Amino acid sequence: MAKLYFYYASMNAGKSTTLLQADFNYRERGMATMLWTAALDHRGGDHAIESRIGLAADAHRFGAQTDIHGAVMAAHGETPLSCVLIDEAQFLSADQVWQAARIADEGGIPVLCYGLRTDFQGELFPGSAALLGIADALVELKAVCHCGRKATMNLRVDAAGHAVIEGAQTEIGGNDRYVALCRRHFTQARRAG
Ligand SMILES: [Zn+2]
Repeated sequence: MAKLYFYYASMNAGKSTTLLQADFNYRERGMATMLWTAALDHRGGDHAIESRIGLAADAHRFGAQTDIHGAVMAAHGETPLSCVLIDEAQFLSADQVWQAARIADEGGIPVLCYGLRTDFQGELFPGSAALLGIADALVELKAVCHCGRKATMNLRVDAAGHAVIEGAQTEIGGNDRYVALCRRHFTQARRAG
């Protein structure tokens, strides 16, 4: 049985690196894959998926209305896919997460989703909430706070490095606008900010 996986983490835990490594492992064996990432581009690089350690790849882009199931099954009809990998999966809609589940359940293709668990206020993203609800396998990728504890939270900071308390869930700005912290230091920083 193909499974739906959710690899979740805070910022800077190496989600894109892990995705690209998994993709490489399939392709090294001659297996076809399909990569996706959010249309909303806040990295500004040349490639759709770029990891902080220099790996990069092109990918299909999903927006709020993208029929991921339809696009995957159409591609699968031409070249059989061994795996679908989705970066920035926190931006999937709940409906798109159910589409990913259908790709696994009815299409027989494993779907590996990589994304943030929570936003800068500690709230679940819609895609993450749906994935935490229905994924077959939940895998936490670990980042480290400056104190050495596991970083589970994402603090949004302004240009001066001060905590941002209010605002939209998604803000185009780039990874340098976020700091991965343990919950204790996240709470302290927001209180001070
Ligand atoms: Zn800490």
